[in-house]
Amino acid sequence: MKKPVVVIGGGIVGLSTCFEFQDAGHEVTLIDPEPISGATHHAGGMLAPIAEVQFRQPELVPLMKESARIYPDLIARVSRYTDLPTGYRTEGTLVVGADRADARHIADLVDYLEREDLPVDVLSTRQARALEPALSPRIAKAIGIPGDHQLQPRLYARAVLDAVRARGARIIQDTVVALEGASPCTQVTLSSGSLDTAGSIVVLAAGLGAAKIPGWYAGANPLQLRPVYGDMVWVRMPAGMDCLVSKVVRGFVENRPVYIIPRNDGTVTIGATSREDQPHSSTGGIHDLLRDAIRLVPGLEETEFVEATCGARPGTPDDLPYLGWAGSNLVVSTGYFRHGILLSALGARTAVDLVAGRELAQGLEACDPFRHAPATAHSTPSTA
Ligand SMILES: Cc1cc2nc3c(=O)[nH]c(=O)nc-3n(C[C@H](O)[C@H](O)[C@H](O)COP(=O)(O)OP(=O)(O)OC[C@H]3O[C@@H](n4cnc5c(N)ncnc54)[C@H](O)[C@@H]3O)c2cc1C
Repeated sequence: MKKPVVVIGGGIVGLSTCFEFQDAGHEVTLIDPEPISGATHHAGGMLAPIAEVQFRQPELVPLMKESARIYPDLIARVSRYTDLPTGYRTEGTLVVGADRADARHIADLVDYLEREDLPVDVLSTRQARALEPALSPRIAKAIGIPGDHQLQPRLYARAVLDAVRARGARIIQDTVVALEGASPCTQVTLSSGSLDTAGSIVVLAAGLGAAKIPGWYAGANPLQLRPVYGDMVWVRMPAGMDCLVSKVVRGFVENRPVYIIPRNDGTVTIGATSREDQPHSSTGGIHDLLRDAIRLVPGLEETEFVEATCGARPGTPDDLPYLGWAGSNLVVSTGYFRHGILLSALGARTAVDLVAGRELAQGLEACDPFRHAPATAHSTPSTA
């Protein structure tokens, strides 16, 4: 008999983790007061290990590439248990620059990608406009990244939740307020009761909320999570009109990033802001996003405004997730920052591999949940 698994957090990371443990033959319990209410609800959903490649982050790039590689298989397996759509699209990504300085930025990106042997198509602006006629004739540079895909995070997360439920997961809509120990974690304390976990595996996948759950470490909290806020604007094409673009368009406008993501339902998502203060959208920030998006794809001006939201990415000091054992039956899986939709596939598979004692496809030393812990912090044995 495989050990039952209790997953804390029903964002994309926790949900994918539930699914993978079910696939591996474990009984799963998911705890979340409101699944899909965190960063996942607000995310763009770009699966973009190449366009989002992070200079000077050599540990992150292989994780992103590996997760992108295994994503299509995970989506296919999820789709066997649900009829809900995922919004998965494989048209690829165009990266465009608005002016000459932005063109230089893209040229630097191309140099880096070519040095790292990552696939990129250098396009003339004419070729880019042949691919996406709605692009402004005034763009200064464009490249194509065929392997960078996208999905609709709200839809995809709902599909995974539906699949997990269909496979018999127990779902407890409650908040975890504490864990009792880590080696082993004997109890999960909820706001309205408790759950015995002595013989179970516990996975702490509560996004930013993970840093507020005490009891599994001694001393100061080892998880240094911080919210990094980002705005998202949703617009809709007028009735009867095709979407303006078919690929994700990532742009730089006077050095400001902006992305334009077409969806299957005729909506377009526009985003890219990033800040550590102000947990709400500012009117100026939304104005800047729309102005930059319209400069790259002028037809966006004719769309219907649907919604603007602000979400919080679970940031870590080094932009790497916290992923690994934190005690004899406790796995931590959080801190996925800007790439949690992409990295959720790898995070979920890794949690299963850890529990199965399998050799990991990717080294996890750089993701140690205790790497930012003050010297006094370490996992705590059960007090029960
Ligand atoms: C504006 C924006 C755009 C983004 N775009 C992209 C993108 O294009 N591509 C990409 O890969 N990533 C993107 N991201 C990042 C991505 O959204 C996150 O990294 C990812 O969603 C993190 O998922 P998660 O499951 O760890 O956390 P969350 O989605 O935040 O989920 C955490 C869950 O835990 C639950 N929870 C919290 N505390 C408790 C508790 N005490 N007890 C029980 N449950 C609890 C919450 O209710 C929530 O449902 C974006 C993020 C933002 C904000």
